[in-house]
Amino acid sequence: MADKRDYYEVLGVAKDATADQIKSAYRKLAMKYHPDRNPGDNSAKEKFQEASEAYEVLSNPEKRQRYDQFGHEGVNFGPGGFDFGRDFSHFQDVDLGDILGSILGGGFADMFGGGFGRRRRVDPNAPARGDDMTMELDVDFDEALFGSERTLDLSLPATCPDCHGTGAADGAKRVTCPTCGGHGQVIGGNGFFQVRQTCPKCGGTGSVIERPCRTCRGAGLVRKPSKLAVRIPRGVDTGSRLRLAGKGGGGLRGGEPGDLYVVLRVRDSDIFERDGVDLAVDVPVSPLLAALGGTVDVPTPDGTAQLHLAAGTPNGKLMRLRGKGAPDLRGGPQGDLIARIVFEVPQRLTGRQRSMMEELSKSLDGSNFPDSKAFAEKVRTFYSHKEKLKGK
Ligand SMILES: [Zn+2]
Ligand SMILES: [Zn+2]
Repeated sequence: MADKRDYYEVLGVAKDATADQIKSAYRKLAMKYHPDRNPGDNSAKEKFQEASEAYEVLSNPEKRQRYDQFGHEGVNFGPGGFDFGRDFSHFQDVDLGDILGSILGGGFADMFGGGFGRRRRVDPNAPARGDDMTMELDVDFDEALFGSERTLDLSLPATCPDCHGTGAADGAKRVTCPTCGGHGQVIGGNGFFQVRQTCPKCGGTGSVIERPCRTCRGAGLVRKPSKLAVRIPRGVDTGSRLRLAGKGGGGLRGGEPGDLYVVLRVRDSDIFERDGVDLAVDVPVSPLLAALGGTVDVPTPDGTAQLHLAAGTPNGKLMRLRGKGAPDLRGGPQGDLIARIVFEVPQRLTGRQRSMMEELSKSLDGSNFPDSKAFAEKVRTFYSHKEKLKGK
């Protein structure tokens, strides 16, 4: 997983490529590297799989967005590898029919059987682990800082209670598939090519259920609404992924359930900005207070802190409050809080305030404003140079 190439790079398209551009780039690569055109060429096969994987993500707006946001982490779930779900039906709706149909017929699933997608189940009676599932969850900024409990409303495929995931009606057996005679493959093609395809009737297993379970229509799984309490740990951030072991899709024929992954998205705060464990906050301060020096209240995750401003503190000054940032998810030290002083000029002065301010303003001169003084000198020099140059 470590050296996975960027999907955009794999397809050779820009990050803002349109769906049509992505599709067209994929078609070219698929034509070039298709295993049927490059028999025995493993690097072509790898390129083909790489391109298919990239296309699978970038052609799906939801997965593409997740990929853009979280990278490969966002679309890769679990040790089973790439999450294709249970079938490859999406390949049929991307015009692979018209690119590869004549070559392939339609037995797409075989080609991904090894190493890429989920392996086809060879023994139809063996227990099969349930699918790993993934969902996104929005959490509030303060929930991410302090941790919280949430109840998820789920509707996941669960093991069918009537057939216990066998897909067979009570007492029904598996019988040899009538379409392929138990071979799991059928011969297809269109005159030029004769190709073996996975049997569409039995999905390559060579056997079918005599009488399918009525509840699940033979699938062994039913969609089941459920509620699940999850603990959001302190310090999570956007992209943090919670793994809930055994809470994913139901298993078949006594197989274990898969895992559920919850990918978090943390909402913005209207007070703090967050960068990892560090937080930043803009603190409005009166320029008069900054001139005199004094204390200001600064909000922190641990409560209000008092910040001492030296007399003459400038606008925009950054002050670091060590250990007052966000907690670290992995138990490391708490981050820092960066407070930025932002002057707020007094508004709506009363007559008395105004006259006091005028008197004060008159009393101030260059010695009170060293920056203004230095600036005025630079400006004078600039104009005198200009005059000299004009004289030449
Ligand atoms: Zn059933
Ligand atoms: Zn069959």
